[in-house]
Amino acid sequence: MKKTYTYGKQSISWGDIWSVVKTLRSSHLTQGPKIQEFEQALCAYTGAKYAVALANGTAALHLAALALDIKSGDEGITSPITFMASANCILYAGAKVQFADIDPATALIDSLEIEKKITPHTKVIIPVHFAGQSCDMEAISALARKHNIAVIEDAAHAIGSLYKGTKVGSCTYSDMTIFSFHPVKTMTTGEGGAIMTNRKDLYDKLIQLRTHGITRNADKLTHNDGPWYHEMQSLGFNYRMTDMQAALGVSQLKRLDAFVEHRRDLVEQYHREFAGDERFTLLQEHSDSKAAYHLCPLLINFDKIKLNKKELFASLAQQGLHLQVHYIPVHLQPFYQELGFKPGDFPHAEKYYQQALSLPLYVDLMPDDIKNIVKIIKETACTK
Ligand SMILES: *Cc1c(COP(=O)(O)O)cnc(C)c1O
Repeated sequence: MKKTYTYGKQSISWGDIWSVVKTLRSSHLTQGPKIQEFEQALCAYTGAKYAVALANGTAALHLAALALDIKSGDEGITSPITFMASANCILYAGAKVQFADIDPATALIDSLEIEKKITPHTKVIIPVHFAGQSCDMEAISALARKHNIAVIEDAAHAIGSLYKGTKVGSCTYSDMTIFSFHPVKTMTTGEGGAIMTNRKDLYDKLIQLRTHGITRNADKLTHNDGPWYHEMQSLGFNYRMTDMQAALGVSQLKRLDAFVEHRRDLVEQYHREFAGDERFTLLQEHSDSKAAYHLCPLLINFDKIKLNKKELFASLAQQGLHLQVHYIPVHLQPFYQELGFKPGDFPHAEKYYQQALSLPLYVDLMPDDIKNIVKIIKETACTK
């Protein structure tokens, strides 16, 4: 049978399986010791003081926005080239979304464009470390400090990445950083997410919001009826991760550095194989960055080839290459167009979308797979 490829998938070892099985046979399936163990491991890995494990990355973005007290009348700025959750979390909190266009060389949010979108109502900037490469956090944190704005790093693509020698997730340049552990991401817990922070005030709020806004902390109670007593002090949610998920996370985190090295090797090979071919461009990695690539988008110069994007996509699928496009610019989604955004608003993001296809990138791929994939693409995208 012909080998088929998707753009991403998980790698599950016997060690990962055993870790989950042990938890299944333990006394706690949720709210048990594996959550704390995973959170401590995330802190040790990133260097941040606090971690809050959550049901998914979207819940992490939602709670991060709420912990900052973002509300109606406020504004938040994010990239149009992202998964919609990066923008939706601003709307969940009742605030208004603004986008800032990308730098075409990296597809990362451009700090000069962010500055143009800042108003007296701007309360948060959510830079997205697209494809795994960190945004220019020094410039973004300087802007945020100057205008008294909070920063949430959306690092759903970037666990394991470095920026200026510091781990993404250390929160050196931000108030909070969020991760996603969906199976297509660099490491997985099935569904899952986390918030990293160095701020105790935010950590305390997040812990409450994760479990219905309830606290049992004696220092925080308004009074105390007895040992059973607990209080709901804010309108929280059930956004908890299970212990089986955390057990998988603990095991996957031990493999993360090996995942990252392998993914970087694959991306390097794609660069070599596509080099010097004017039909194709890959995103650039800037010198401050060591990216744990979640994605490897290929930019195709459709002026030079016979097929249009739809035709190319269909033909590649027929040959076993089931790719994806990351992303349809968020401002072009019908829901966002109803909020007033329209085609033409963010020209770099829109041009990027016309050209981009995400290449297969996952740990099971070997150098021969990359050769094979590149060969299929080059043959299918024949020149005019
Ligand atoms: C995957 C992703 C999310 C959301 O994570 P889930 O765990 O799927 O909820 C948020 N932002 C970005 C950029 C993502 O890629």
